[in-house]
Amino acid sequence: MEQKLNIYNSLSRTKEEFKPINSPFVGMYVCGPTVYGDAHLGHARPAITFDVLFRYLKHLGYKVRYVRNITDVGHLENDADSGEDKIAKKAKLEQLEPMEVAQNYINRYHNDIHKLNVLDPSIEPHASGHIIEQMEMIQKIIDAGYAYESNGSIYFDVEKYSKKYNYGLLSGRILDDLYSNTRELDGQSEKKNSYDFALWKKANPEHIMRWNSPWSVGFPGWHLECSAMGHKYLGERFDIHGGGMDLLFPHHECEIAQNTIAVGEKTINYWVHNNMITINGQKMGKSLGNFITLGDLFSGNNKILEKEYSPMVIRFFILQAHYRSTLDFSNEALQAAEKGLNRLLKAYDTLLKIKPENSSTTEIIEVQNKCYEAMNDDLNTPIVISYLFDLTKSINSISDGKEKIDAKNLELLKNIFDIFLFDILGITNETADNHNNSEMLNNIIDMVLNLRLQAKTNKDFTTSDFIRNELQKNGIIVKDKKDSFEWEIE
Ligand code: ZN
Repeated sequence: MEQKLNIYNSLSRTKEEFKPINSPFVGMYVCGPTVYGDAHLGHARPAITFDVLFRYLKHLGYKVRYVRNITDVGHLENDADSGEDKIAKKAKLEQLEPMEVAQNYINRYHNDIHKLNVLDPSIEPHASGHIIEQMEMIQKIIDAGYAYESNGSIYFDVEKYSKKYNYGLLSGRILDDLYSNTRELDGQSEKKNSYDFALWKKANPEHIMRWNSPWSVGFPGWHLECSAMGHKYLGERFDIHGGGMDLLFPHHECEIAQNTIAVGEKTINYWVHNNMITINGQKMGKSLGNFITLGDLFSGNNKILEKEYSPMVIRFFILQAHYRSTLDFSNEALQAAEKGLNRLLKAYDTLLKIKPENSSTTEIIEVQNKCYEAMNDDLNTPIVISYLFDLTKSINSISDGKEKIDAKNLELLKNIFDIFLFDILGITNETADNHNNSEMLNNIIDMVLNLRLQAKTNKDFTTSDFIRNELQKNGIIVKDKKDSFEWEIE
């Protein structure tokens, strides 16, 4: 690889040079959605962050196996070990089969994030399809002596684990603090300690998603699925595990503990976390009344929104902040992003019309190097975007004749947009595409109608009528003028 990517590792809390275990192959696992509701603004950020990492690794020549799971069982309310399963609760409310709820929201999730031009992962495993793998992992942890049974449920013994290993390796949390901070909740009394977490939960009689196991009829704990599926598809050791910062504790901390006992120590090299999105400075939540789904954003149908925003504006807005910075959503910020994106796309259209000169007043290679430097510095997308804005000024000066560019530099300039804006940042040029398509359609209709005019001149009314009728079937209305024509689309 020519480029050296440095990435912030939540485990070492520093930026580290990215060195895959088995280059050029890279294994990357990202925690996907729990599918019990529509995808919202909070889902867009990890989807886009890891999409850019996926795209950049591929651009650098790595062969990436990207696994992003679907949580369709075991994620209980409030991320706790008690309470109802989020999907089962929704199924009961809507009188549906739980898998019907999951499938509906999986379809809707895909539809929304495809609009954001997020690439599909290589594998998208479902938790409910990997119950056996999860049970095998539980058995290994029991056999190693780090889990205990209580009333048919199996819990991970955090206290015993922390005598030998560091529970808090990733999050920096200290067990004594956890002990005093965790309140005793219903159903937790069957645990030895409140910080122990469930590997298997015995199902209450009303619980609909349940499987037979050696311990009870029940279902796996939420943290287990990612450990089991990650190692199943990416091997005992793999390169990257990612997700939102809200998953760092307890979800990822628990994964490390499970992996350490069932697979081995240090099985994952880089832990990567994106920061959260706030709305007008507040955390987003249904109870706060500031909940915005991606569908709301695309349609403008939410009282918080002043207008609708295109998926590309949302994507660009998210990439204008570094993935580890907080990002505050507001109408003002999104409208600024919209203007910025339009400026870049307009400059690109202008760029395509520029003709090269024999000499150049501008050297572009330096800008390309700087864009790579920014991406290599922990995916610094806002810096890349600022270089693209600098280039729009050059493009406008060249177009106005104030600067000159030769063929070599013109090619490089176009490449920077193609590589960084379109391939790596994943922006699509919708306006330019639509514009080009409609221009092409206009030209073709004009051509057909000129042929019809010729037919009429030759008194070939069969052909002339045929063309008019066929166009009309496709919604194009032709109005005959003396020796000319007009047309419109119905
Ligand atoms: Zn996960």
